Amino acid sequence: MYGEGILKGMAVTLKHLFKKPVTVQYPEERAPMFPRFRGYEFVWYEDRCTGCASCAKYCPLGTIRIETETEPDPNVGDRYGLKVFDIDTGRCMFCGLCVEACPYDALFMGTGFERATYTRPSMVVHIDELRAAKKKPSAYARPHLHGINFEDETSLSSEEAGR
Ligand code: SF4
Ligand code: SF4
Repeated sequence: MYGEGILKGMAVTLKHLFKKPVTVQYPEERAPMFPRFRGYEFVWYEDRCTGCASCAKYCPLGTIRIETETEPDPNVGDRYGLKVFDIDTGRCMFCGLCVEACPYDALFMGTGFERATYTRPSMVVHIDELRAAKKKPSAYARPHLHGINFEDETSLSSEEAGR
């Protein structure tokens, strides 16, 4: 029948006209995040980190740069002091292997994604930024974190994040 295709197309249009939209008006509105979402950031707990560099060794792209030194406190014998802990998010593919490789629950994928920038050097997350950042870790590779509320601005302490 002539015009059948147009009628079918219009029927689809009409059907969707009265459906609840799936789009959200970002940034005023935000879609709910899944617990294992891997954001454009990392969460690092220095007090848990021994400087073993497993994360850096497992990274297939050499994205993490770690420099250690002898722990200044002679009573601490189970960890290195950390001079450098930089993550170049411009090279990172967010595979999460570094997080899976960390034996001490010190490194997590983050849940933030609003770090857009114009230059490659500013995509490197330095140790001081990691130290100061709000800790909102993803449950990726850390199933014990399922159920945390990502819309909640409260950051997770080292004790809360650990297993
Ligand atoms: S997420 Fe993957 S690519 Fe990015 S730093 Fe970790 S191991 Fe490397
Ligand atoms: S984040 Fe984990 S794997 Fe990386 S150096 Fe620290 S303890 Fe080792």
